Amino acid sequence: MRIVDVRERTVAIGTAMRNAAIAFDAMTASAVALVSDTGLRGYAFDSIGRYGKGALLRERFIPRLLQADPASLLDADGLVDPAACARAAMANEKQGGHGERPGAIGLLEAAAWDLRAKMQRLPLWRSIAGYFGCRNARSDIAVYASCGHFRTDDSLTREVGKAVDAGYRCVKIKADGTDGDVARLEGAAKLKVQLAVDVNGALQPGIAERWFAALAPFRLAWIEEPAPPLDLDLLARYAAMSATPLATGENLFSFDDARNLLRYGGLRAERDFVQVDPLLSYGVTEYVRILELYQGWDRRHFLPHAGHLFAAHCVAGLGLGMAEAAPDGALPYGGYWDGVRVAGGRVTIPDAPGAGYEAKANLLRILEET
Ligand code: MG
Repeated sequence: MRIVDVRERTVAIGTAMRNAAIAFDAMTASAVALVSDTGLRGYAFDSIGRYGKGALLRERFIPRLLQADPASLLDADGLVDPAACARAAMANEKQGGHGERPGAIGLLEAAAWDLRAKMQRLPLWRSIAGYFGCRNARSDIAVYASCGHFRTDDSLTREVGKAVDAGYRCVKIKADGTDGDVARLEGAAKLKVQLAVDVNGALQPGIAERWFAALAPFRLAWIEEPAPPLDLDLLARYAAMSATPLATGENLFSFDDARNLLRYGGLRAERDFVQVDPLLSYGVTEYVRILELYQGWDRRHFLPHAGHLFAAHCVAGLGLGMAEAAPDGALPYGGYWDGVRVAGGRVTIPDAPGAGYEAKANLLRILEET
């Protein structure tokens, strides 16, 4: 097997929604296709929220992958080795200063995973579990829906209600870290669903003590990113202040950053959640290094951010807690595989080889045009 071409395309996925920090009107994402001489193709599609990575892929990482000795990208069984692909793409890159490089490498590594699992004729989660020797892998995973991207508060309760009707049992709502969040939560709290909130780093230290106390009665599953992603001192202060579990890590893209979070973020293994996103963080190989670093943490406390179908396979294959979903299946990065329903807050991953992009028509169209 030989990789004969690597294609990438930046796709416009802008939509009229926002969180406490950014608007999504001009959002883009990268689609990647690894073309092999066997006719099999490995696909990857970005996590949402950090823009496409076309320039990085075109200028550095794809040329290096194509110039690598083809044998060096295979394991002893002749299967494409995702870790070797990431290593080849990272040749002559200095340590640290990770920037958005990890997302570009993560896409190539993810496409190599899809190709590897297709070569094995296995669903991706089984391929990942086999590679890393994970014994508590399973096709049936817990999922949660992300809702409430500041349209209007009227639409928020309706949107959460739709997610509940669709089978979700845990719904995350965007909040903005102001005193107005209590009123924002009240409507949704009347529905029979476990709620979490995502502050996207916007909670102001001056009101934090009052804000955490006001949200405590809602018994939230977690409060996400109360502090800006790299302000670990502030996060540690919030962790000491909050009665509710905290979750963070979606904007930390490396083993180095995850280690700083562990060292300085004040998180508690028995209470809090880590949301590092494998697709944005050099891929599954680096992600497993992070899991191994968090000694004493139950893997159910790892909830990868976004990542869509790929992250769902990571949750299944590595025995993680929950996968995040944009609940609208009409979006290329929303819902799950065509015909797969959420029931009781869980989905069962279909048996299609690879990540199963071929079983989601609106996403496959984008990947096939790449
Ligand atoms: Mg978030």
